[in-house]
Amino acid sequence: MHTAAFAAAGLLGTYQARDIAPDQLEGALEGIRQADVLGCNLSLPHKETVLGMLDHVSKQAGQIGAVNTVIQKDGRLYGENTDAPGLMASLLESGYTPAQQSGGVALVLGAGGAARAAVYALERAGCEVWIWNRNLERAQHLLAELCPSGRVWEQQEHIPFAEVGLLLNASSAGLNNPLESPLHIPFPDLASDALVYDMVYKPLETALLKSARAAGFHSTHGLGMLAHQAQLAFTAWTGKEVSSHVFLQAALDVLDPALETSQNSEAGSSEAGEPG
Ligand code: NAP
Repeated sequence: MHTAAFAAAGLLGTYQARDIAPDQLEGALEGIRQADVLGCNLSLPHKETVLGMLDHVSKQAGQIGAVNTVIQKDGRLYGENTDAPGLMASLLESGYTPAQQSGGVALVLGAGGAARAAVYALERAGCEVWIWNRNLERAQHLLAELCPSGRVWEQQEHIPFAEVGLLLNASSAGLNNPLESPLHIPFPDLASDALVYDMVYKPLETALLKSARAAGFHSTHGLGMLAHQAQLAFTAWTGKEVSSHVFLQAALDVLDPALETSQNSEAGSSEAGEPG
């Protein structure tokens, strides 16, 4: 995605993946305090541990408790979280408008770094946030810290799904496993205009999205969020604005060459069925 963005912006630059063990993170960060390095992204398991290793962390990233983007400037390292605004941009593109949904509840599945960004963004967008996680204590801790007015559900069977206008998978269930779903119950009756959003984008068609579509709900995979968080990081590094479609198309070229952005761009890679 970033290679395509460098080309679109007319800049010479490369983006490379590095496999860094947890005990190598601090040393690796020292290595990017160089004039010719713009910064880096971080993924599992570094997003939370990196907080204490940076010179400055944005208010947003500090409150979320996770950094996915590091910006290098004059030898100093700045931490930012572009997952939260990236998710909101993708949700809006998918037609999710919290104030207008018939179900005002956003139900988040998962309680890791991605769920933290989601809860932070959804609470600020005015949603009532509910959360379910395999590890109940982790979910309770997350809500207490980020959204004390939210609600934790211990058992999926007890959730009043008719109030749910957004069902968001922020867990790793389904990642690299098209048969695994974070739901352990038959697909529920959500609010009639509900959106089902899966942050997972590998595979694009997860078990959750498949069953949501079969039940007649709008559904969207996580590639739109990936594109938007990358676009925001790119601008933070370079000061240049590149359309999110450049990022989306570059990712699709790798993940599913058969899909065209024209099919997905307006809806943020969404697959829509008739509302159930
Ligand atoms: P994380 O910090 O490791 O958290 C993983 C979460 O998934 C935990 O809540 C964990 O539950 C839960 N989980 C793992 N396996 C599960 C299973 N089989 N059934 C139910 N729950 C399960 O990971 P993360 O950084 O939050 O990432 C979560 C997902 O979001 C990943 O798939 C990642 O690729 C995706 N993501 C996508 C984007 C995007 O741009 N689209 C951005 C960020 C992340 P326990 O607490 O019980 O272990």
